[in-house]
Amino acid sequence: MLGLAGAGKGTQSQILKDELSLSLLSSGDLFRHHQNEGTELGMLAKNYMKNGQLVPDEITINMILDGVNDVGSGGFVLDGFPRTLSQAEALDKALTHDPIDCVVYIRVNEGELLIRLTDRLICRSCGAPYSKRILGPIKDCGKCGGQLYKREDDKPEVVKKRFKAQLPGLHQLVSYYSGQSKLVEVNGDQSVAEVSREALQASSEMMVGNPSK
Ligand code: AMP
Repeated sequence: MLGLAGAGKGTQSQILKDELSLSLLSSGDLFRHHQNEGTELGMLAKNYMKNGQLVPDEITINMILDGVNDVGSGGFVLDGFPRTLSQAEALDKALTHDPIDCVVYIRVNEGELLIRLTDRLICRSCGAPYSKRILGPIKDCGKCGGQLYKREDDKPEVVKKRFKAQLPGLHQLVSYYSGQSKLVEVNGDQSVAEVSREALQASSEMMVGNPSK
């Protein structure tokens, strides 16, 4: 799942996971989990994340490929990975025998993303995002009752740094996966239901088109 921060990758990945019975690996969630657990990896990633920078490729690639191994032979959705060309190449190398089927790029303009990110709250337990603008003063997660919090890197000054750090890689990945005929671009300004309808249709078609599935 490709897209800038706030484009809806997390929400749409969760929907694809449920609808297509896949596992879900989110690089951002994995980093945050490591930080909460106080692991060495979490500590390594912390300052990069706090400053809106990308965590170095080697650390990120090792973490995700470990996750891919743990998933085993079942299919999976990747949310937030790859974000650089080196990460995409490492992924392709690791999946030579069972390559990825489809790359969904959720495109939203930066102005809208800035509004979405600075407005959002996240559930500490299940990671569900909420918009203060749309839902008003909410305190707990409607899905699991977990506590809602504001991510440190969703402050406007950090969000701008995140876009700057993510844009060059995003552009490279869009051409990389277009070149492999795996890219599907979805207009992320639409409703969640509309985006997921298009994302689901495209990924189901591409999975069906792959004889190994
Ligand atoms: P996210 O939850 O996807 O918005 O990611 C939060 C932060 O985690 C990013 O701003 C980066 O610091 C780090 N991160 C997540 N995924 C990656 C990645 N694929 N490569 C490098 N850093 C990442």
